[in-house]
Amino acid sequence: MTGEPQADCLFCKIVSGDIPATVVRETDTTVAFRDISPQAPTHVLVIPKAHYPDAGSLAAAEPQIAADVLREAAAVAAGDKVDGTGYRIIFNTGSGAGQTVFHAHAHVLGGRGLNWPPG
Ligand code: 5GP
Ligand code: ZN
Repeated sequence: MTGEPQADCLFCKIVSGDIPATVVRETDTTVAFRDISPQAPTHVLVIPKAHYPDAGSLAAAEPQIAADVLREAAAVAAGDKVDGTGYRIIFNTGSGAGQTVFHAHAHVLGGRGLNWPPG
């Protein structure tokens, strides 16, 4: 796994600009954009620009970029002012856990009560 863009990957197309998104933050290695189907007042996806299928494979290949994703997730929460009330960072991994896009992404959810354990 090299991190190269994949032609059939939705999030690689958001990175390249071929598919538009509401971008809230961008760095050399990451993009953060609002989820098209928000499940909370704040629902932002933070992705590495490099293509890895899930968070674990990203962390194994590019630990610094995995750290960038986490730092940016926290910055998104602060930017939306949900850090005070609490927020959740989620990496769905595998279809059985609800992963539908196989380009690593962190969901940042906040702005409402968040039950534990999640469904
Ligand atoms: P997963 O289910 O893989 O954990 O999360 C994928 C997320 O991508 C879903 O929450 C879904 O709403 C979001 N999504 C799917 N297609 C698009 C799109 O074209 N644009 C944006 N901004 N989000 C998308
Ligand atoms: Zn991709």
